Amino acid sequence: MSLLELENVTLKFGGVTAVDDVSFAVEEGEVFALVGPNGAGKSTIFNLISRIYDPFAGDIRFQGQSLLDRQPYEIAGLGIARTFQNIELFEQASVLQNLLVGRHKHRKSNPVGEMFFTPFVRREEKRHRKAVEEVIDFLDLQPYREKFIAGLPYGVRKVVEMGRALAIEPKLLLLDEPASGLSVEETQDVAFWIEDIKKLMGITVLMVEHDMSLVSAVSDRVMALADGRMLAIGTPEEVQRDPKVIEAYIGS
Ligand code: ADP
Ligand code: MG
Repeated sequence: MSLLELENVTLKFGGVTAVDDVSFAVEEGEVFALVGPNGAGKSTIFNLISRIYDPFAGDIRFQGQSLLDRQPYEIAGLGIARTFQNIELFEQASVLQNLLVGRHKHRKSNPVGEMFFTPFVRREEKRHRKAVEEVIDFLDLQPYREKFIAGLPYGVRKVVEMGRALAIEPKLLLLDEPASGLSVEETQDVAFWIEDIKKLMGITVLMVEHDMSLVSAVSDRVMALADGRMLAIGTPEEVQRDPKVIEAYIGS
């Protein structure tokens, strides 16, 4: 069984078919990249997996179970975390607070327990702190731990956005353009982190990315899309030399 499967998924916005009969499967433990020109439907695929949109047709399965009868707020609890192409963080809160909020939204304790601060809640709280501190160390965010998001450079906010998703300890991490707007050095860091997320943390990664050097460096498999349709799927080398892919990029 694949970790994530999209089967003949279609979504239209008015007259535009943003995602047109798309099928692919992401295997546990791999880094899978979606590439394609602007407007190809990549972010829409993430929004479909996150249950922000209902597909017109097709099915989306995670660990063999359809996500279509799940609500958006249940998705993170199932083990799917995502970052947004446009960073979505609490501006007037610290890095630490942003990562903790990410976890608290998905925790399983009950409000009565919280009121009385039971030993269970205290243990849970410790676990949240520990997971978040590990992410802060892993992403070298220690110098920014107490700093408000509003005052941080773009490159650091981008890393915090990734940290917020990692802090919920997902099985599947969806990264929407993790390197966009980053310098060559910062992109290099992102490449190393993605390698470690896969190898050390055992998290499966599905990412959308324009930077083909990053895609080639970290991806096991790539799917190229244009105008909502799949053009090619395979290793980064196979997809990059596919004539349909080359044409889509030149024509865009
Ligand atoms: P990508 O991420 O590959 O650049 P998107 O998934 O954002 O592309 O968009 C795919 C197509 O769907 C585009 O034509 C875009 O204009 C359209 N689209 C995306 N979201 C919406 C929306 N909420 N309403 C209307 N059209 C949308
Ligand atoms: Mg996009």
